[in-house]
Amino acid sequence: MIKVKAYAAQSATSPIQPYSFERRDPKSDDVVIEIAYSGVCHSDIHTARSEWGPSYYPCVPGHEIVGKVIAVGKKVKGFKVGDLAGVGCFVDSCGKCSNCKSHEEQFCDDHMVGTYNSTELDGKTPTQGGYSSHIVVKDKYVLKIKKGQPLDRVAPLLCAGITTYSPLKRQGVKKGHKVGVVGLGGLGHMAVKLAKSMGAEVTVFSTSPSKQADAKKLGAKHFVITSDPKNFEPLEGKFDFIINTVSAKHDFTPYLGCLKIDGTMTLVGAAPEPSQVSAFALIFGRKNLNGSLIGGIKETQEMLDYCAKKKVLADIELIPASQINEAYERTIKSQVKYRFVIDAKTF
Ligand code: NAP
Ligand code: ZN
Ligand code: ZN
Repeated sequence: MIKVKAYAAQSATSPIQPYSFERRDPKSDDVVIEIAYSGVCHSDIHTARSEWGPSYYPCVPGHEIVGKVIAVGKKVKGFKVGDLAGVGCFVDSCGKCSNCKSHEEQFCDDHMVGTYNSTELDGKTPTQGGYSSHIVVKDKYVLKIKKGQPLDRVAPLLCAGITTYSPLKRQGVKKGHKVGVVGLGGLGHMAVKLAKSMGAEVTVFSTSPSKQADAKKLGAKHFVITSDPKNFEPLEGKFDFIINTVSAKHDFTPYLGCLKIDGTMTLVGAAPEPSQVSAFALIFGRKNLNGSLIGGIKETQEMLDYCAKKKVLADIELIPASQINEAYERTIKSQVKYRFVIDAKTF
């Protein structure tokens, strides 16, 4: 077994604290990764605090992982010791169902084996995430990271990057499109960079007036403060696509009003409480409201290669593990600029 230093939540109400545990010895198709950096996603907070329903404890969060390969199983061909590697939001799936076969493992009919707060395919062995010194993952679920990039700024791509890239890509966002990004946090700032890189004219919708200058620097052309309903009036029917990254309950109606006929708003933000939507907000203008969950392994690799080529990286605050709890509080207050990343040397 491999001894691992980590940080974990012991219950929904306890802080994230030092914890140690053991990972399995590598099987023939496993890759052992020494973690270098681990991003802090708002999903970590929802999960550590059981906001989406009861979580498994102890819970080691973290699904934005980059590091170095330090050992591989006998049958592993795609990775060798010394390679850079990434791990995102899941570490296994059945590999046989139609969703797995069509590279949408996140919708596996058996279950997506989440990187943490999940069970292995046996249905009982708990998984533990990236707030840890090492991780052991089946080779097919490990991503390749190109050398020569700042790895701490690559880590958030493994969740915030793919979660925003996937719907932007599916929507065919391109030059001439007007794209709205609701919420300028970890996901939101990646959505701005990616939509801009695809050629769109980007507008940020935010509750935080202090983020206006940053939004422009990140690539947005316009910035809308959402607390004043008047600010939505000139935007009626103007947007091809809106990606909504907000982590808390809010009213979708003003954003649906901003869509063109047949326009789409995709929810990626996963507020624990449901929102109400009037049928009329969709009927008039034939609007679409849908959701999106991260992306499959193939698409995640495509996104990593795209970001390496286009030099798209996250804007981060690098912290030692001991500051995780403060980082959570600042994330909840919408004060993160724009992703906390933990230096894994400090676990
Ligand atoms: P984050 O960094 O905390 O960003 C969320 C942003 O939402 C905040 O910065 C804030 O932006 C805005 N916001 C927060 N509370 C709000 C409220 N009450 N009303 C309106 N706006 C509010 O979080 P994140 O890591 O980007 O994650 C965002 C959400 O996506 C979380 O719910 C997370 O669990 C979910 N998620 C989903 C997927 C998926 O696959 N679908 C993947 C990863 C994460 P402003 O300051 O600009 O208003
Ligand atoms: Zn995430
Ligand atoms: Zn499957």
